[in-house]
Amino acid sequence: MDESLGTDMDVEQQLPVFIQCSSSNVVNDWKQKFEAGTLSITDFKEHWKIWVPHLLSPEPKSSCLDWSFDEDKVQKVLFDSLEEFICDGLPEEIFQKVSQMDNPPSVCGRVFKMGEPTYNCRECGMDATCVLCVDCFKKSTHRHHKYKMGTSNAGGCCDCGDVEAWKKEPYCDVHIIGTQKRHEAGSILPPDLAERARLTFSSVLRYAYQLLTTDYGPGIPLDLKVPPEDVLQITYSHNSDNFCTVLYNDEFHTFEHVINTLVRSLKCSQKDAIEFVTNIDREGRAAVKCSNFSHCEDLKGEIERFTSRHGNRPIKVAVVNSVVVAHQIYAMRLLTWLQKLLGYSESFRILFSEVSLEEKSPDLSIVEGILIKDSQLWKAARLHWHRLFISGMLMEYESKKSFARVFTKKYGAIMKDFIRDDHDHSFSVGSMAVQIYTVPTLAHYLIASEDVLFILLSTFIAECTRKLNKKKKLEFERNLPNAHFKRAQYILYDLRYLLGVPPDTWTPELRQGFLHGLNFLLDLLSYMQGMDEVTRQIGQHMEYEPEWESAFNLHIKLAPVITLFLQWCGTDKEILVKAYRATMRQLCADESLDLGQLGEVREVGDHSVACLHYDVSTQPVSIHLPLSRFLAGLYIHLDKFGLSFNSPDLISDKILRLTPEQLIEPVLRTQVMI
Ligand SMILES: [Zn+2]
Ligand SMILES: [Zn+2]
Ligand SMILES: [Zn+2]
Repeated sequence: MDESLGTDMDVEQQLPVFIQCSSSNVVNDWKQKFEAGTLSITDFKEHWKIWVPHLLSPEPKSSCLDWSFDEDKVQKVLFDSLEEFICDGLPEEIFQKVSQMDNPPSVCGRVFKMGEPTYNCRECGMDATCVLCVDCFKKSTHRHHKYKMGTSNAGGCCDCGDVEAWKKEPYCDVHIIGTQKRHEAGSILPPDLAERARLTFSSVLRYAYQLLTTDYGPGIPLDLKVPPEDVLQITYSHNSDNFCTVLYNDEFHTFEHVINTLVRSLKCSQKDAIEFVTNIDREGRAAVKCSNFSHCEDLKGEIERFTSRHGNRPIKVAVVNSVVVAHQIYAMRLLTWLQKLLGYSESFRILFSEVSLEEKSPDLSIVEGILIKDSQLWKAARLHWHRLFISGMLMEYESKKSFARVFTKKYGAIMKDFIRDDHDHSFSVGSMAVQIYTVPTLAHYLIASEDVLFILLSTFIAECTRKLNKKKKLEFERNLPNAHFKRAQYILYDLRYLLGVPPDTWTPELRQGFLHGLNFLLDLLSYMQGMDEVTRQIGQHMEYEPEWESAFNLHIKLAPVITLFLQWCGTDKEILVKAYRATMRQLCADESLDLGQLGEVREVGDHSVACLHYDVSTQPVSIHLPLSRFLAGLYIHLDKFGLSFNSPDLISDKILRLTPEQLIEPVLRTQVMI
């Protein structure tokens, strides 16, 4: 302990309400208000607005690399108080009781930390995303199967107990017990405990949401400001001019560039600068200086100047009030605390899920708000929310379904933000798609009821239309950056998850949702049919090879999606017929084929046949023929349902139909060229 201990003591003497610093006073106050039915988030904030800056504000004197707080006191005043309030008794005892009352868990759901080992059984897992944690793996039969060990990028969770993730043996020895002793779902908490927990969760979430998603500049939010006339102001008036210069991570400036900038502007050692930059990279932001406002502003200006040389855009720097920094530190810790609490009981998780989805007009629900604002948050803040949603909403099927619904509704917005952001996919809330879209029953539900295929494909197509040329074909130019388009291709992975398992039974809604998506897939394929045409060059050497990589990569990413679509089409006659007709329609509409052209009669031996005239050696040819291939893929299934090329089902007067010669023409051209 150093001199700060002395100041703390003084402060406490000026705080009659909390003088002994046992949180019991504030807890009693909350309890009384709760009983009177008047307790609200404001009451929690009244407590936090005094104590959070007092306990968690960075000290202006200390280096930003070794902040330390009075952790015992933080625990007591800021966390124990909440637990005591929820429990109305000894938290340890009550929480233990609550978790004993709970249904023994039949799913694991352990959220992986960065680098934690994961195990995928190659024999029993539905796909490569189905994994077990070490504990479950060691207690499962899969340890005797062919398995693959991996390491997590953080953000995933153990699938033990998820019957949809495994072909057989979905439970380890521990989680199987949960399936045997299952009683009625629903809250088993005493009503008053549940109500206190609900109020606390709601206040904690709204507060964390406010602090982590709002940009306050150097200001303090009104409801967390302590009015000057308030005597309690004394608590931290000794450093009311206390600010932090905060640096944000971007993928644009190199480590070296930022390190040099810091050495020069902070006048710190190379070693310290490296530590700052490492922190910024890991957490997504870091305070590099605590001082008075004008000093912090000067520093900000200097860092911006250094990093914007050579016409670069400057790195993001902000001057943040140390009071807000303190509240943000607390907000993040609250999310971790809440995650711990949710581990105690299914009832807590159900409460959490209800609170998170609750819309308090004009505000969005917490889930919606975070989904939309994700890309504005720094890395660590994002990951805190993602982990909380995984542990709170993805364990129970109904909560998972509700989350999946909201996620799907916001999918377009989430991915548009992700595409324009520069963080890796694993830091985007969009990466949670793997948690929900890989569950077959959920995927089928979302296709039937939420039009998820259409949402995903139209989001992807919106990115494609920027790349269309006059002929409505995709065209990638060598000198234009394709980073956005590359990022958009993550959507294709999500489509794969959704289509992973074809349905056993088709409902009218499922058919409708599937066909809606399929029509958009065919639009996409029509943009690719005939793209990157090449004409044989004679007489001069090609100076530049045309850009072919992007188109090729798109094909590679799309191929599994196409295969799955075809597989689905092959399981239902109605779908197959409609898909076949729709594909034919797209092929007829393709302008690269001159439908008016009559065949020229050619004779070989005793045969004479009408041929379409095309000179591959002088006219353009493309190797990209996904529509032709798709039709061929459908054709294979026709036989199964007693259909053939001339079946009345497949011919309708309304649509044109290509002759076999016309169908085969583009394919022949490519064959001849090769
Ligand atoms: Zn597990
Ligand atoms: Zn398990
Ligand atoms: Zn296995």
